Amino acid sequence: MIVAGVGILGGVAASQAAAAGGGVLRVRLGGDQAETRLVIDLDRAASAKVASDGAADRHVVVSLPGVNVDAGLQGAGQGLVRAWTVERGATGARLNIELSRNAVIKRRFLLPPADGVANYRYVIDLASSAAAPAAPSIAAPVPQIAAVKPPVTFISAPAPKPAPPLALKKIIVIDAGHGGKDPGAQGAAGVEKDVTLAAARALKARLERSGRYQVVMTRDSDVYVPLDVRVQIARRADADLFISLHADSGPDVNTRGASVYTLADRAVGRSAKLVTKDDWFMKASADGDRGVSGILFDLTQRATKNRSATFAEMLLDRVSEHQTLLRRSHREAGLAVLLAPDVPAVLLEMGFITSPEDEAILGDPGGRGRLMSAVGDSIDAYFAQQTRLASR
Ligand SMILES: [Zn+2]
Repeated sequence: MIVAGVGILGGVAASQAAAAGGGVLRVRLGGDQAETRLVIDLDRAASAKVASDGAADRHVVVSLPGVNVDAGLQGAGQGLVRAWTVERGATGARLNIELSRNAVIKRRFLLPPADGVANYRYVIDLASSAAAPAAPSIAAPVPQIAAVKPPVTFISAPAPKPAPPLALKKIIVIDAGHGGKDPGAQGAAGVEKDVTLAAARALKARLERSGRYQVVMTRDSDVYVPLDVRVQIARRADADLFISLHADSGPDVNTRGASVYTLADRAVGRSAKLVTKDDWFMKASADGDRGVSGILFDLTQRATKNRSATFAEMLLDRVSEHQTLLRRSHREAGLAVLLAPDVPAVLLEMGFITSPEDEAILGDPGGRGRLMSAVGDSIDAYFAQQTRLASR
């Protein structure tokens, strides 16, 4: 089913009016108690220096040399941030963050104007460093992912053995589309939510057999998982790749074939046209975690899209050996399900559940298994290529 989304700009949790003539335009926050993103909108490129990373006293201080701020900015917190200020210092702007709990800076980077945003953005991701991961703030059933990457904690208990080396396995998040009260598209013999779950399980098995991957499922049973929870799962898992599995539908039983979606350039501007027959992904911004949906916009960098497109082409290449492709099989859409700055994310429409041929493939364990094996091959190929690029 088509899964275009709008409202990626939907939730800006905290903002301040522009400081006229200043370098800092505003500050935005998103996220939760596990991970919080702070975005400083700037009217120019800037570098930053961390004066204090928060580990010592729950205060993060980041200086932005040469950046102006006309008047001090301040705002209420969200997630790991209790409060923040941006002050004018001797050499530039200075950001002070008061943390609500133990946390550290996980990553920070500058984003140039892109994707419909006219200004630069300096992004600071804070991650909880508390021993126990924060409980999900959403009441819906959330697959247990705490075990995937336990937080590294240093306690003073006797440690007879050195800690095992950090896992080098790539973390793949598999998202079985729909579920529970949301059946997805209807075929002659079954519904989309069952096909996607069966395929997700087959792909998980294929990936785990290789020994190279750790797989996180956004759902592993017939449950309804809101989209924002799926996004949170992927972010918390620190995914290296995200793949969402769906089955298409259409009025003509002769329409068949697989297709792959990645995030479009200027997704926000075009999204109104892309919302067609399935508003499933839109719900993330409508009733989801405002912080997360607001954050998504800043996660859609060009680099990510390039990687997503690279993977999408590899995926189609392998899938085409086992399944017909739609004529224009690599599509771009305003997918709300995309995530971290450097994580390729694609959505695979495995075929049309409304096509007898496609439904036969998707409904048969053998056919499904071959298709997911091809998907697994494309994931192998993608990471093999990334490794080659990295070792150049
Ligand atoms: Zn779908």
